[in-house]
Amino acid sequence: MSRIIILAIIGCLSIIPIGWTQQFGYVSPIGPANWSTLNPDWAICGNGNRQSPINIPTESSSYWPQLSLEIFNGDSLLSGTLMNNEHSVEYAIDNTVTDINRPYLRATYESASFQDGDYVLQQFHFHWGSVDSRGSENQFNGMSSVAEVHFVCRNTLFNSSQAGNEANEFLVLGVLLRVCENSDFYPVFGPNNSFLDQIMSDPDEVPVSLRLSGIYNCGGPCTDTNSYYTFQGSFTTPPCSEAVAWWVAEDMLCISQAQLDMLRSQNVTSAGPRLTDNYRPIQELNQRTILTNTNAATTTLMNMSLSLFLLLLALLFV
Ligand SMILES: [Zn+2]
Repeated sequence: MSRIIILAIIGCLSIIPIGWTQQFGYVSPIGPANWSTLNPDWAICGNGNRQSPINIPTESSSYWPQLSLEIFNGDSLLSGTLMNNEHSVEYAIDNTVTDINRPYLRATYESASFQDGDYVLQQFHFHWGSVDSRGSENQFNGMSSVAEVHFVCRNTLFNSSQAGNEANEFLVLGVLLRVCENSDFYPVFGPNNSFLDQIMSDPDEVPVSLRLSGIYNCGGPCTDTNSYYTFQGSFTTPPCSEAVAWWVAEDMLCISQAQLDMLRSQNVTSAGPRLTDNYRPIQELNQRTILTNTNAATTTLMNMSLSLFLLLLALLFV
């Protein structure tokens, strides 16, 4: 029971009324298509208008060079728990670690449509596919990657007793993963991935100490080197609250083939079924604006200007 309470406080992804036992999953009849009807408090999973994840059309995103996401306290040594929680593999920072000792992300937009803020890291978790053609939740130009990690952070203006319904209550940093020989995730998965091996089904868990900078290489401000896409969205699991400022990194992180195979071998419970393809299908973008500090948008503008110039030049000589 204590673990359920801790998850409700720090996990932020499963704000389930006390006494409610209905679970969600990724396969019918409790799969994403039915989440909105499994619980009256999850209706927004079906009728929301800024749901996540989304497909990010990079060239039609709005270039906004003022955007920055700075990471502070990345070198703090964190105590936490790696767990299989039936829906994902998650690393949750212990409640005993105070905010001042945790990494925090400073989101700067300098835009009237978005609010700047500081967000403290609570946990991070993974989504993956059973085959290489799928697994990430967010997509770039209709393309998925094998997996995605979500760093879930809470706005310092809000506390854990609030319901998670304000538009900027959370920030989730999403980073798509690719398979490389040298993984970025050895600090959390352990030597020879032994920690991952110990949590093959819910409620397995193992204590792990790590530094965020050992995984996401930003010991200090990293605004000069990191490019992002940002937009308003929701949690990608019930209750699908539209309370998330999303930042999706342009660059990918590395996971090893062995680690990906071990994620694919996870079970929901010791009796099964297999926990894999734990990603929600992409949702409608609707009227949302996507801002980016990458130069993809400017490159597109330059290409369009060049095309127009060449067209005018051609007309002059006709
Ligand atoms: Zn997630």
